[in-house]
Amino acid sequence: MNPSDGLAEIARRKAADFKQLAARIRKKPPAGLDEWFAEADEEAFSAIDCLACAQCCKTTPPMLFEKDIERLASHLRMRPGNFVEQYLILDTDGIYAMRSTPCPFLGADNYCSVYEYRPKACREFPHTTHRRMYQKMQLAVTNAAICPAVFRILEKLERSF
Ligand code: SF4
Ligand code: SF4
Repeated sequence: MNPSDGLAEIARRKAADFKQLAARIRKKPPAGLDEWFAEADEEAFSAIDCLACAQCCKTTPPMLFEKDIERLASHLRMRPGNFVEQYLILDTDGIYAMRSTPCPFLGADNYCSVYEYRPKACREFPHTTHRRMYQKMQLAVTNAAICPAVFRILEKLERSF
């Protein structure tokens, strides 16, 4: 069973609570919040198999910056311009993002075929181990509807603070 099955509906029901939690944390960030997130992230991912999920790669186009484009194009032996043309779109903020979902580099076995060369945004997803996590709370609320690990982390956060 995919760990994200039914998540969108459950997250939709929790959205208001998570938004309130995010507002509370942003207003008065608890001491040690970044360390708390790092531990909660480790705990959540120890219980979830990303290869049984791949929901992020299936639903959420990553952003790509110049270095990401150069690294991937070089790996694929393409000119950066051709890579952009084939795989990317420019969003309204002038940032490149993967053109299609599921990601064209996601295999049927849920492995990323360019894993070593994947964009920084993919490496950092789901953004739960950043510094100053109180500034990332809205992103966490959004990602809780995509990623079962983030959902677990926010449920735990709700119980802890
Ligand atoms: S990071 Fe989250 S959404 Fe992506 S595969 Fe892992 S559990 Fe699923
Ligand atoms: S590049 Fe790899 S990790 Fe990133 S979205 Fe595509 S399949 Fe997923």
